[in-house]
Amino acid sequence: MKKSKETEQLYSNLLPDACFSGLEDIAEKVLDNKRLNSDDGYRLFESGNLPVAGFLANFRREHVSGRKAYYIRNQVINYTNICINRCAFCAFHRKKGDRESYTLSLQDIRTKIEDHLNEPISEIHVVGGLHPDLPFSYYIDMVHMMKELRPGTVLKMFDVVEIEYFSRISGLSVEHVISQLKEAGIRALPGGGAELFAPRVRKILCPEKIPAEKWLAVTKTAHKMGLKTNATMLYGHVETFRERVDHMAAIRDLQDETQGFINFIPLPYQPRHNRLKGIRTDANDDLMVQAVSRLMLDNIAHIKAFWIYLTPPVAQVALNYGSDDIDGTVIEEHVAHEAGAETKSAMTVSELESLITQAGYEPVERDTFFNEIRVTENENSAIRRN
Ligand code: SF4
Repeated sequence: MKKSKETEQLYSNLLPDACFSGLEDIAEKVLDNKRLNSDDGYRLFESGNLPVAGFLANFRREHVSGRKAYYIRNQVINYTNICINRCAFCAFHRKKGDRESYTLSLQDIRTKIEDHLNEPISEIHVVGGLHPDLPFSYYIDMVHMMKELRPGTVLKMFDVVEIEYFSRISGLSVEHVISQLKEAGIRALPGGGAELFAPRVRKILCPEKIPAEKWLAVTKTAHKMGLKTNATMLYGHVETFRERVDHMAAIRDLQDETQGFINFIPLPYQPRHNRLKGIRTDANDDLMVQAVSRLMLDNIAHIKAFWIYLTPPVAQVALNYGSDDIDGTVIEEHVAHEAGAETKSAMTVSELESLITQAGYEPVERDTFFNEIRVTENENSAIRRN
């Protein structure tokens, strides 16, 4: 393969040949800003060569976001843990009538929001289980109430799986459901529920959940109707490297078509209190997934190292392995914590900023759509840059 002049220079200046162990062609593509194919992604995982994957991912990350690393002031609300599905990896769901089951009334949700009205939160993130009895009007009323309480805040609400469920319980088409939610005030979808697309894996993890094709079709509809979304990938359970890369490729194909994804979020499986009884992947694998995500998803601007799932130290290091966002203040989280996440359920702005600063990056407060709200000058990153 013929290298451009710039690539030739970068390649010889930065990368001693001995490091590559057969990944030279992938390095050349990255340095030449060319798209990796699925085999490339697979070979990166298979090589286990984290230094090279990390170096290349960081090269691409800095091309997109420079020395910036993003966080958001957000409030997470999980309105019910009652769910008709019983996904094997999920420690959050309960059956109706279980001692630990709960459903927040609209008044409970109002109180949660009012408790934080004095904070400059830019996003409210809402997801919950698929409740057997709540009518579609409960969700619409929830959105109206939030819009009234927080008119300037982006409402990022309901995973694709919930949207499809609302369509079933209301008898309305997915388009009608989205249109009513938009009219009430929703501006984005969180993008969860994708899990891992391979049918073999879904059969083990979540046989009752909508199949990958449906997840992609509903997401495509949302994008076409003007709603931006994130996309997640749950990894570290029973999937193969090839299945991880295929998942990323399916997201990338849809992004080519719609340009509707804002952020890609790899989420490590949390092993406690669920039927799958797997084990937690290690930091090495977490960083490799972040790096390969950055390299494969050349058409999604941002890769998130979600501190709640990864732990703050791993999220911090991930900023040097392709990711440029660590999520936010959160305030209250149940889904990952029920499954054994040992992190806190909230972080202050100064804790988030200090994580970023100590990693040598410049903290930038963002909104849901990565519009910059506040850039904090970072002495450390300035020093490192010079
Ligand atoms: S992952 Fe979601 S759909 Fe599956 S059981 Fe848990 S709450 Fe229900």
